[in-house]
Amino acid sequence: MTGRVAGVVLLLATLQAMGIGCSRSPDGEDAATDASALADAGDESGQRPEDTEAWEPVPPVVVPGRNGVPPSDAIVLFDGSDLSAWSAEDGSAAGWRVGGGAMTVVPGAGNIRTRQGFGDVQLHIEWRTPAEVSGEGQGRGNSGVYFMERYEIQILDSYDNRTYSNGQAGAIYKQHIPLVNASRAPGEWQVYDVVFTAPRFAADGTLVSPASMTVFHNGVLIQNHVELRGPTSYIGEPPYEVHADRAPLLLQDHGNAVSYRNIWVREISAW
Ligand code: MG
Repeated sequence: MTGRVAGVVLLLATLQAMGIGCSRSPDGEDAATDASALADAGDESGQRPEDTEAWEPVPPVVVPGRNGVPPSDAIVLFDGSDLSAWSAEDGSAAGWRVGGGAMTVVPGAGNIRTRQGFGDVQLHIEWRTPAEVSGEGQGRGNSGVYFMERYEIQILDSYDNRTYSNGQAGAIYKQHIPLVNASRAPGEWQVYDVVFTAPRFAADGTLVSPASMTVFHNGVLIQNHVELRGPTSYIGEPPYEVHADRAPLLLQDHGNAVSYRNIWVREISAW
């Protein structure tokens, strides 16, 4: 007799000793009772369903948004009205133009960054390259979203605009080519939804785990939990350097009048 069969026999004997009938009944109700009695007593290994039920912690309630409204626990970074959550890189007022529910790069005004620092986040950001196409390659609708001021996902007009693949829209700049090109035409609003995990450093500054990103472009998966090899850079591949657990989100002034709207993050906290 195998151990498994012996276990079942023992279980049935135990149930009968407890007065729980295991005889077959033409009555479906009795059969159901038998099944739940078996479940309560566990399977042949003695494990019960409730042994693998986790009741704590209880996930906090978040009210999801409708029609572009951020979820209830989002930190809104731009709702179309003002740049109060942003500054220039030197800490002075952000010099980008606000109007029509959007903010737009003023070429030469410089990059802007959030006043608040973030680590692991879910980001929602809507962006639009100029309807009037000028330039080509990297010179057409170029901007970028930098997590922690270091790790860029490229913004570019990549609608029928060839450039190096790890520099097109949705690329983790010079590191990861997007899986597909989900670009909309210039002048149309587009969306990135990003899960960003910050790198972790040991107390001595060595890298424990790299940064990673998952990105949806207009609802289409374009980066699937890719790991970054260090900060994204125009030239070369610089290694990781230890930095704070939280750092600003930065938007790039690359000389093109790219617009943004409806920007929010949710801080990701592990249990
Ligand atoms: Mg860029």
